[in-house]
This record gives sequence, structure tokens and C-alpha cells, in this order.
Amino acid sequence: MKCNICNDTGWYELPNHRLECMERIQCMDCLLQQQYKDTLKEDLTKLFSNASHQKLAQIVAELVINSVDRNEHDDLDRINTIIQTKNMISAIQLGVVYSQ
Ligand SMILES: [Zn+2]
Repeated sequence: MKCNICNDTGWYELPNHRLECMERIQCMDCLLQQQYKDTLKEDLTKLFSNASHQKLAQIVAELVINSVDRNEHDDLDRINTIIQTKNMISAIQLGVVYSQ
């Protein structure tokens, strides 16, 4: 859902009548939401650290495949190439990009 205060930019402008200029204000709603998400990520990471590597690899693979499939600008064949060439670095990069 888009923030109706800052339009997802994290900042908004407010007139400062004393200085007669526009003031850039950080959006507290978005900042708190980001902090909440960061806390959840940390806590979920701790929880996941008890799971098996096999299970985690399976979850990441499914997340990546489903994300690539949903992205009309990406291509599943790209993943196939990465698998065939056993390109671990590209596979990790792909996971990192889609985790953003
Ligand atoms: Zn906002």
C-alpha cells in the first residue's frame, strides 16, 4: 500500500511560515514501518537459523523462481543457464536482487 503522506519517498515538504520556505520532513510513518520490517527480518533470520540448509535452499529457490516468473521483464531461461553453468555467484546475486 502506498504511503499517502510521502508517496513512498520517505520525505515530504511542509511550508515553514517563519522562514518562508518549504521544509523537507522525514515521514515518521514510513520510518517506523521500515524499523518494524528490519526488526521482523532480524527475528525471522534468528528463527530460520535453526532450519536445515536443505529446507532453506528450497524456500529461496521457490521464492526466486516465482519472482522471476512474475516479472515480465525477466526470463526463466536465465535461471536455467545459471543452473547449467553451475554459476553460484549469479545464483546468489539473483536471490539478493529479488530479496530487495
Ligand atoms: Zn511515508
